[in-house]
Amino acid sequence: MNIKKKHDYLLSDLTKLKGVGNKIANLLKKKNINTIFDLLWKLPKSYTDRSITTKIIDLKIGETQTVSVTPYKYNFPRIRNLPNRVFCKDSTGNLDCIFFNSYEGYIKKVLPIGKEVTISGKISYYKKKYQITNPKYISEDSSIIKTKHNQYSLTEGITEKLYNKIIKQIIKDLPQLEEWHNKEILKNFDNISWHKSINELHKPENVGNYKSSFYKRLVYDEIFSSFLVHSEIRKKIKKIKKKVKFFDLKKQNDLILNLEFKLTNDQIKALDEINNDLTSNQKMFRLLQGDVGSGKTIVALISALNVINAGYQVAVMAPTEILARQHFLLAKKLFNDSINIDLLSSKLHNKNKKKILNDLNNNKLDLVFGTHSIFQKKIKFKNLGLIIIDEQHKFGVNQRKKLSDKGGNSCDVLLMSATPIPRTLTMTIYGDMDLSIISEKPKLRKDVKTYTKLETKIDDIIKFIKKEIKIGNQVFWVCPLIEESKKINHTSAIEKFKLLDKLFPKRVSLLHGKTDQEKKEFILNNFLNKKFDILVSTTIIEVGIDFPNANIIVIENANKFGLSQLHQLRGRVGRGDKQASCILIFKSSLSENAKKRLNILKETNDGFKISEEDMKLRGYGDILGFKQSGLKTFKLADPILNKDLFLLAEKEIKRIENSNEDISKFKSLMKLYDQADIINDIV
Ligand code: ADP
Ligand code: MG
Repeated sequence: MNIKKKHDYLLSDLTKLKGVGNKIANLLKKKNINTIFDLLWKLPKSYTDRSITTKIIDLKIGETQTVSVTPYKYNFPRIRNLPNRVFCKDSTGNLDCIFFNSYEGYIKKVLPIGKEVTISGKISYYKKKYQITNPKYISEDSSIIKTKHNQYSLTEGITEKLYNKIIKQIIKDLPQLEEWHNKEILKNFDNISWHKSINELHKPENVGNYKSSFYKRLVYDEIFSSFLVHSEIRKKIKKIKKKVKFFDLKKQNDLILNLEFKLTNDQIKALDEINNDLTSNQKMFRLLQGDVGSGKTIVALISALNVINAGYQVAVMAPTEILARQHFLLAKKLFNDSINIDLLSSKLHNKNKKKILNDLNNNKLDLVFGTHSIFQKKIKFKNLGLIIIDEQHKFGVNQRKKLSDKGGNSCDVLLMSATPIPRTLTMTIYGDMDLSIISEKPKLRKDVKTYTKLETKIDDIIKFIKKEIKIGNQVFWVCPLIEESKKINHTSAIEKFKLLDKLFPKRVSLLHGKTDQEKKEFILNNFLNKKFDILVSTTIIEVGIDFPNANIIVIENANKFGLSQLHQLRGRVGRGDKQASCILIFKSSLSENAKKRLNILKETNDGFKISEEDMKLRGYGDILGFKQSGLKTFKLADPILNKDLFLLAEKEIKRIENSNEDISKFKSLMKLYDQADIINDIV
């Protein structure tokens, strides 16, 4: 087979397999198994060793066992619902085979009187006799049965027998692919080939052999391929030549001098990296990553200023209107009247909206804020030079790539995310972008003190809050989001509101999923302006908004949240220079494990560390909803168990990038492993 044919086979439709028709193929498709290649990752979860036969006297009730017996009598009652029965024996005892829905002719053929046959099945015991119902592998030819037999977690409508049959078939026809890795890399895996690895992977005795070379090689293939695709996307974006943006740094520096605070070193470094990109002739595609409260907004806005000074327009997109408005107000404050700024809000009257659209199209507007609506087709920018996207960690690679295409060639792209992710996942999730990381918190910032409290101790909490409110502080009170029932979720918030409202009359407001947009903004603005002291809400306050005066957050039913999510929520407070507190409330006393989890939160305010621990506890797919982001879910690789291989792949990618190595030898790897659309434009 030539290369193409080999791929064609692996990537071909399931119906190409013997024993797989449309019906079976459709059942498998429901499980996301679309090609023969996909089936390679359908692994046995355990196996039964039918090569070991047991004497009747040694049979264990309830287990699946194999036994060689000689049939000596039939009983075919010919009454509906009564099973057919074959009496069998060996030298040690008796056993009955019971058949429901089988024809006499068939039974007589597979279990002939007086001939020894080997059968297998689950052993039961009834009226002092062993029996097997519908025994499998009834065969005179013991060689067929005397092999190990894989057990799979079953897909509806597909039997274990069929799985065994089709997977055996694939392994038999598995093409030898040309090696894509170099010798150095292969050394890590005892030089085992892909072909051999797949073979080993499906051997029943290798179930769970995660430490073996064959397994690690396949894990590495998977990680490496995904990183390589990202790397290629990044290279491709970098190849796009753009006009260099010229600007004078004086305006930037004046602004920095006039800030109420001093930028941190990390902020300055990030800004430098961004400015370097802006002034180069390559398109910027950069992620600014930093923990909650690390001060990304100011960095982004200064970059915006520079781009505007270079004569371009800038668009800032936030995930919610409230956040868009907050950024807008901050920009107004920072830039005074030196540049033309507007907010494209869904609430605008048509006339005003039209004016903004016109202004954008005529280059009268330098800086516009909005939600994803700013990327509607009808919105045309005269001269867009930079797109800034805040808090979009849920954007997948495909969405990001579309975005980068959106502004056209001269447009740079800066994404911001406050979602620290474990080190091993950086390339997995963001490998298509350049990265600036702010890990240093502003100097005066005090760590949020974190406490755990039982629900029954609510009086203590109220007392504490009273004291804080007296000295002018504000409180977030978060009620849990109960996914299964939006209604409960919202009643629990309403009830808490009622309770607190009695204790703090006229000083409490409520926000929940059903609060409409306009009211939401009204309430949040009032909270910002200290018109009330306690904001009861569901988790909608999670993202981005800055309330410098709020320094207490109470989180109910805290065990409903993951660690990273709690960390994000906690990040809503402690953004000013006051000491902030986070109080986690629990319904019942905590298990040892839960305590361990929470201790991580108490001990550290470092989001990267927390995300790492969170991943260990919950698995990588779950952290912060990355699952919905189109994050590639690996078939074998596990960022915790295979950390070393993630790092090895990253190192190898860097080497390939730096030496400008030809990657055509990885074509088949990428074609097979990453069947995403993106590959088509790369390879
Ligand atoms: P995030 O990185 O989570 O988006 P923000 O940009 O909203 O954080 O910044 C959080 C708060 O910290 C804001 O009130 C901002 O004014 C303030 N801030 C930003 N940089 C500094 C700094 N270097 N020193 C002190 N405060 C800062
Ligand atoms: Mg932010």
